[in-house]
Amino acid sequence: MRSCLTGKWRDFFIKSEIMITKIIAEEKIQAVKKKIEESVEIVIVVHLSPDGDAIGSALALTHFLNFLEKKVTIIIPNAFPDSLKWMPGIGKIINHQEKQAFAEGVIAGADLLFALDFNTLSRVGNMAAAIGDSPAYKVMVDHHPDPGHFADLVISYPQIASTAEMIFRLICRMGYFTDISEECATCIYTGMMTDTGAFTFNSNNPEIYNIVSELIKKGINKDKIYNNVYNNFTSDRFRLMGYVLNEKMKIYPEYGTALISLSLGELNRYRYKTGDTEGFVNIPLSIEGIVFSVFIKEDSDKIKLSFRSRGTFPVNEVASSHFSGGGHLNAAGGESYISLAEVVEKFESLLPSYKEMLLTEVEKQ
Ligand code: 5GP
Ligand code: MN
Repeated sequence: MRSCLTGKWRDFFIKSEIMITKIIAEEKIQAVKKKIEESVEIVIVVHLSPDGDAIGSALALTHFLNFLEKKVTIIIPNAFPDSLKWMPGIGKIINHQEKQAFAEGVIAGADLLFALDFNTLSRVGNMAAAIGDSPAYKVMVDHHPDPGHFADLVISYPQIASTAEMIFRLICRMGYFTDISEECATCIYTGMMTDTGAFTFNSNNPEIYNIVSELIKKGINKDKIYNNVYNNFTSDRFRLMGYVLNEKMKIYPEYGTALISLSLGELNRYRYKTGDTEGFVNIPLSIEGIVFSVFIKEDSDKIKLSFRSRGTFPVNEVASSHFSGGGHLNAAGGESYISLAEVVEKFESLLPSYKEMLLTEVEKQ
């Protein structure tokens, strides 16, 4: 039957087979499509310490825009973890920390800017001024709650699990499903996988699996992608993890909470490099009775906090109220400029005010 369909109708038939609902508003789809058509110099920016979703979304969108023969530059505020260095197209990414003047020239010269996987300029570190000042038309594509106002077009849907999934939806809705390449599909899948912990949280929307199915049909090797991201650490990382679990994991049973903190000295002892502590914050949530986990890491210029929770305990509220941060209900982050010991003390002093919510969550598990 299908082989009888040709040209336009065949495409339509294939497109109509993707069983996903239209979440992104049609006028936003048309607006972004028009801006892409009109643009000459496109720049894509993502958040500080870019993760698999930020890099995956940026690379996927770049592969697609390159198919449209558009000139695209991805600029990241600082280094990405080694676990992503295999991704198709990664070699062309510009790190603002390494090439500040060049990066800012590109941002200033762009006529279209995509801001992916973040929703306030506070998330791009010292790239904020360059982005704010750029004359480019700015399109935000993001899935965090409470978007800010720096973009001209805001495509923000917190109910979608990853920005990469939004990129897939955007490309399909613009009418280019058939033109998604295997490389583009690989980058989309990487973002969807990493923002859901390899489909273990925030991943109960059945449409995610319709999309994964389409990506597999595009030729991706999902098992290889998993191996590339999650089975490529150094032995130092596991020795650090061993140390953390044995000596640094503090449990507060009366609050259903766990805390891990690491100083610069401890990190250096295990030859820390970007990405080595990825996932540490999730580990205590595997302990019975733990519904709230925090990982506090000393950086050279600040203290970085990562929060995770189970159920409905809102870690983004903890992060935004007390640690200049934000994020999602179950995964959030923040930062602080007091000492590591003081941050730990501050965190501990907050726990009594959340006791009732935490214990309610423990009961539910
Ligand atoms: P992670 O703990 O993996 O670094 O971040 C978890 C989530 O919290 C991510 O969705 C990330 O975007 C968000 N997040 C992490 N750090 C910050 C921060 O400093 N500020 C805000 N607003 N969000 C953050
Ligand atoms: Mn994301």
